[in-house]
Amino acid sequence: MAWETVGTEAVVADCVAFARRLIQTPSMPGEEAALAALVAAELRALGYDEVWGDAAGNVFGRVYGQDRSLPALALNTHLDHVDPGDPSLWPAPPFAAEIRGGRLIGRGASDIKGPLAVQVYSLAALLQAGERPRRDTVFCGVVQEEVGGAGAIYWAEHLDYPVELVILGEPSANTLALGHRGIVDFWLTFHGRSAHASAPERAVNPNYAAAAFLARLEAAAVQLAAHPVLGPTTVAPTIMQVDTTSGNVTPAWTRVLLDFRTATESVDSLRAFIDRLAGDSPHTLAYADGLEPSPLTGSAAPITGFYTPPDSPLVGRAREALGRGMGRAPELTRYRFATDGRHFAPHGIPVLGFAPGEEEMAHTAGESIALDQMAEALRAQAQLLREF
Ligand SMILES: [Zn+2]
Repeated sequence: MAWETVGTEAVVADCVAFARRLIQTPSMPGEEAALAALVAAELRALGYDEVWGDAAGNVFGRVYGQDRSLPALALNTHLDHVDPGDPSLWPAPPFAAEIRGGRLIGRGASDIKGPLAVQVYSLAALLQAGERPRRDTVFCGVVQEEVGGAGAIYWAEHLDYPVELVILGEPSANTLALGHRGIVDFWLTFHGRSAHASAPERAVNPNYAAAAFLARLEAAAVQLAAHPVLGPTTVAPTIMQVDTTSGNVTPAWTRVLLDFRTATESVDSLRAFIDRLAGDSPHTLAYADGLEPSPLTGSAAPITGFYTPPDSPLVGRAREALGRGMGRAPELTRYRFATDGRHFAPHGIPVLGFAPGEEEMAHTAGESIALDQMAEALRAQAQLLREF
């Protein structure tokens, strides 16, 4: 096979060097322009057939396939990262991209710049071996994933070529991730009657209703349905607020933010679940501020997940090709966090996640990625491009 004869180590070394330059170019959400320019220059230097950008600030590179009549394969990673926080908590400066003990350390190492470099170089590896992917393959670097996915939404809405599959480069430790749960956030408000705190008998204090609800919620949460791959629907009460800032006034209302991660539950079934636990206590339920129903889907679910079932032919084909590339079939898994994949699924574009990097590294101080995992992912993905 050409792969073994073209100097695998040289391609991996170039890929890692590129990942280091990506980390050394900070790209907080909304500030991705310098990184997009760096990526575009690399795509041109590597011989991609087309390189372009769009009005959202996304950057793209296309490599023509052997059969240009087939729908394209899209390789998607975002360009932005979260804030590194206090640099003193890091074992090495967060934008220095130091390599220690076989791991590349830096903000974005696993989420998302290590995987981004692997996507870009999986195509470069084929080109350097004198090969082409089976179908047209488009690398898509999108902006603002960490703050809602404006880049991915723009891409999906302006897509003007058919796409067979999106390979999402969120870190999956070289497993094949089939999806993730959606998010539904509700404000649950308990209503009472406020009074002077010196005369609590005149009040209906909604704090008691909220407390009783939360005790019942903790016990009932295990009854929420579980999905065989995506796992159980979970709920976490997070923010609590009252209408008063005066310590000597009982509140007229108390509200709690309920953060549901939904696998099989619908918004309606969650409303029924909450209403049952709230019982006779006067209460109202509303979507949390800023989390309106998705304009993409028109669905009531504020944030959808995505899911490609394991018996889908796409999963079988991708798994076989990746497995041939790395010498073992990738395990089928799911992401715990939400990704841009949720913006593609409503358009009917299938999504699978595959990338190096451990999910639990994402957004942590000391974020890093194993170089041998990057090398394995590069081999696997190059084989996917050949076969898929
Ligand atoms: Zn990410």
